[in-house]
Amino acid sequence: MPIDFDDREEQTEQEERLLARTLTSADDGEGSLRPRFLTEYIGQEKLKDNLKIFIEAAKQRREPLDHVLLYGPPGLGKTTLAGVIANEMGVNIRITSGPAIEKAGDLAALLTNLDDMDILFVDEIHRLNRAVEEVLYPAMEDCALDIILGKGPAARSIRVDLRKFTLIGATTRAGQITAPLRDRFGIVTRIDLYTTEELSRIVTRSAGILKVEIQSGGAAEIASRSRGTPRIANRILKRVRDFAQVRADGVITRAVADEALGRLDIDRIGLDAVDRRMLEAIILNFGGGPVGLDTLAANIGEETVTIEDVYEPYLMQLGFLARTPRGRCLTERAYKHMGIPYSMGTGDQMTLGG
Ligand code: ADP
Repeated sequence: MPIDFDDREEQTEQEERLLARTLTSADDGEGSLRPRFLTEYIGQEKLKDNLKIFIEAAKQRREPLDHVLLYGPPGLGKTTLAGVIANEMGVNIRITSGPAIEKAGDLAALLTNLDDMDILFVDEIHRLNRAVEEVLYPAMEDCALDIILGKGPAARSIRVDLRKFTLIGATTRAGQITAPLRDRFGIVTRIDLYTTEELSRIVTRSAGILKVEIQSGGAAEIASRSRGTPRIANRILKRVRDFAQVRADGVITRAVADEALGRLDIDRIGLDAVDRRMLEAIILNFGGGPVGLDTLAANIGEETVTIEDVYEPYLMQLGFLARTPRGRCLTERAYKHMGIPYSMGTGDQMTLGG
């Protein structure tokens, strides 16, 4: 049986934004939109091709798949892919996250409860604490747990064998994973932002599951304004669906999508009010940059991790923002989009005006 997994907590109101980085209540029922098998998983073609081979080979050898580390911005399908891998391998998956595993004993309990070949999925694996991480090393390498009994000079360690398993770790921060942990993953792969064409297919597929009629123009409009992220595309689709239902005979056309997105305050290229506030702050308060991340975060009242994980990847993909050793800088394109004249000369010397 394919596995359905959708067991995350409700989020606070402040996070209920369309572009929120974590799951919100708007994602309830996200489970039904999640692809279950590789054929349903849209995009990431190279990664899928490789995975198909690794999965096939592991199955032929009747061995678990090598440990997999997936990294990339939130909402791109890391959890989904872990579920897909489990279904393709025909094994069970246990889902947890770095911050949820507080003590070494918690991890030991999880690992000893796995069946042969099972997958353990650890989201936000960069947030595992040191003591827990150290339990993982022998588990990943030798399928064993080293348990320390007693304290002080009388302490001794015994080794307990585990069943063979696959660890799939997901992180938005590849750079924050310690080298010893990273080195123990056989497959390390990045998940990239999706193209508009891929998002269009995702939106069309989701509309089919939600039983809402959508025209190709409507799907394209939603896709091009979803900042490369399937979770955001699905979230926008649901809001546009409401709009189509109440205002337009239930069919999502380009015009309906465009109007709904306008009302949601998402602009032509998918930027929302926070993105625009951030761009505006860099221009007006910091002369276009360079500005340090902490300073910027304090200035616009956002957390640095949110800026780094959610806002920057898309702004960088658009070519609006550059990360330099001295801080964040905006490009001429960003000025153009914001309708503010770009005066030559960069950084601190930059002045506003035409
Ligand atoms: P992450 O774990 O990277 O934060 P998720 O796996 O939770 O992201 O994906 C968010 C949602 O986006 C899923 O519920 C799924 O419906 C959709 N999704 C993600 N990747 C794909 C894909 N490749 N094809 C179709 N839908 C996808």
